[in-house]
Amino acid sequence: MSASPRPVIVWFRSDLRLDDHPALSAAIKTGAPVIPLYILDDGIGGRWKRGAASRWWLAKSLEALASDISQRGGRLILRRGETISELRHVADEADASAIYFTREYEPATIALENQLNVSFSGGEILLKRYGGGLLREPEDLRTSSGGSYQVFTPFWRAFQSDLTVARVIAAPEKLEAPACSLTSDDIADWALLPVKPDWSGGLAEAWQPGARGAQDQLKTFVDDALNIYAKDRDRLDHFGTSRLSPHLAFGEISPAACWRAATSALREAGASERSTETFLKEIIWREFCYSLLFHFPDMPDEPLRKEFATLEWSKKSSDLKAWQTGKTGYPIVDAGMRELWATGYMHNRARMITASFLTKHLLLPWQLGEAWFWDTLVDADLANNSANWQWVAGCGADAAPYFRIFNPVLQGQKFDPDGDYVRRWVPELAGLPAPFIHAPWTADGPALKRASVVIGKSYPAPIVDHKAARSRALEAFEKLKRV
Ligand code: FAD
Repeated sequence: MSASPRPVIVWFRSDLRLDDHPALSAAIKTGAPVIPLYILDDGIGGRWKRGAASRWWLAKSLEALASDISQRGGRLILRRGETISELRHVADEADASAIYFTREYEPATIALENQLNVSFSGGEILLKRYGGGLLREPEDLRTSSGGSYQVFTPFWRAFQSDLTVARVIAAPEKLEAPACSLTSDDIADWALLPVKPDWSGGLAEAWQPGARGAQDQLKTFVDDALNIYAKDRDRLDHFGTSRLSPHLAFGEISPAACWRAATSALREAGASERSTETFLKEIIWREFCYSLLFHFPDMPDEPLRKEFATLEWSKKSSDLKAWQTGKTGYPIVDAGMRELWATGYMHNRARMITASFLTKHLLLPWQLGEAWFWDTLVDADLANNSANWQWVAGCGADAAPYFRIFNPVLQGQKFDPDGDYVRRWVPELAGLPAPFIHAPWTADGPALKRASVVIGKSYPAPIVDHKAARSRALEAFEKLKRV
């Protein structure tokens, strides 16, 4: 009788799904029993440890993954501690022969993979690393001079030129659990849910974390909104985007699955070519941000354009507080910030408006906004967050020019023409008619009275004057050119 093979570990990280998972499918192909493992390592990430909204999502996503695994006969093992020692403990306890995992691209996770290689080199336990988190690996694309791309358009052209998107890897029907019994933590003991304040009610209402939620979201988007994506994606008052970002950030769905769903809608269901291309371009923006982070690991903390390090930012903490709590007196900014607090998400257009307001109108450092988003976004993603903050602030690789300063009133009128987005998130202004909703201080007395709005009391007066703030920002940014 032949001895049964030693089990293999599948170490889950930001890849909390069972389908389209190259590491898992390779592990299953060995024919050995599989130990699905997740390790909560509080020592990883430094300043960029998971934020509060992400921890909520992680808890829910792990519950979903554990349920998907148990339906297939397996068991997700949860351990808390230092990653390498926990991997070693579990491998020793189960006499595992290999650890299968998906590679990651953040400075801390890259450093961890390097340490792992050292720690397990020459030993009995094989390390097997796979892709799957991106459509193309960041090392794949090089400019003609051998460097990395820093501008999106050439990156996008090169990216598409010889792209092949791997075929679907179906989730395994069965997972054979190992014979040995392994202890597992109880996720409730990890205290991942917010306590003070507990704002998880709004998060739970807005989202369904987990692979099933991700697939449903993708299907709803492709069926209902892909066709109008190019037209509606900037409208704050419409549900015109996919809302897949947290699912992608936690790897509950692969970018390849999103790519295939959109391209097959184009080929087979006659989806709009322009809309499909616009959507695919956003998926490539994600890849671009990852490539930037991979090549510029300081990006979350340091401006890519070095002259920005000398900018004389404001230190006014009351302005930061007003921005965080959605009390700037500019309704479109406040609506975005309150949507973020209530749901852990903010529409992309509102992210651009609020980020521009923080860095230009308030002249506060982009890193402060980046940190607030990091803590409150369910889709907080180091590459996307830092690249986009730098882009809006003007200090990024392929950034918006510093003199592009959004006028929050005009942005509101353009992307929320009837004021429905503001009415939803800033209910104290709900009674104002559309012509005043984005600039309530311009409403006449009777209009304010009818809407029960008292500027400075029921809703704040603008904390800065647009024209004066714009001139101050331009002056500060102009100085940089002389550095
Ligand atoms: P869709 O419009 O449906 O796009 C599909 C997918 O493409 C998104 O899920 C996302 O993965 C990717 N994508 C879209 N826009 C961008 C972009 N500008 N950059 C990179 N990838 C993009 N996105 C995050 O995932 N995490 C963040 O922490 C994050 N922080 C941001 C901070 C600022 C200041 C700004 C301006 C943008 C930020 N974004 C971030 C990018 C973008 O706002 C979100 O990805 C998008 O709003 C998510 O909504 P959606 O899934 O409906 O997007």
